[in-house]
Amino acid sequence: MKKKRLSKQQLLEKQKLDEKKFNRAMLISFGILFIGVLSVLVFYTYWCDSRFAWRKIAWFKQEVPAYWICMNGDNLQIHESTKAVFDDKIYYFCSQQCFNHLVKHFKEVAIVTDAFSGDSINKADAIIGLKTRNKQDVVYFKNKENFNKYYETKNK
Ligand SMILES: [Zn+2]
Repeated sequence: MKKKRLSKQQLLEKQKLDEKKFNRAMLISFGILFIGVLSVLVFYTYWCDSRFAWRKIAWFKQEVPAYWICMNGDNLQIHESTKAVFDDKIYYFCSQQCFNHLVKHFKEVAIVTDAFSGDSINKADAIIGLKTRNKQDVVYFKNKENFNKYYETKNK
């Protein structure tokens, strides 16, 4: 069989075509990779935000786990807070500064009034709830009874 010989012109054209094909394949691969990375980033960025938004609504009238709040700022956190032990009690903070603030101003920060009865309580022993639906501020209660009564009055 006679081997088909390509002329110089044809060879060049074939090379150009291969190059084009290669470039297109690269473009598509990088495009897919770029879109993939972008979606992961978007997903992770908004994942926290959307969960945070959901918790602010869904946790109203529910006991809020202490590790989701900062006991210095008295607010719900977008990410879990850090546990800190001070004077044999467990507190949760969003940052080292917040913990330092409690240590420095212990009475003002750690001791709070029960949002229903007005009793003085330590935040470490308190039951935590959201002050208002869709807001990140929290309130503290001495016991479950006060907690329930507080939200009963919120219905009216
Ligand atoms: Zn804080």
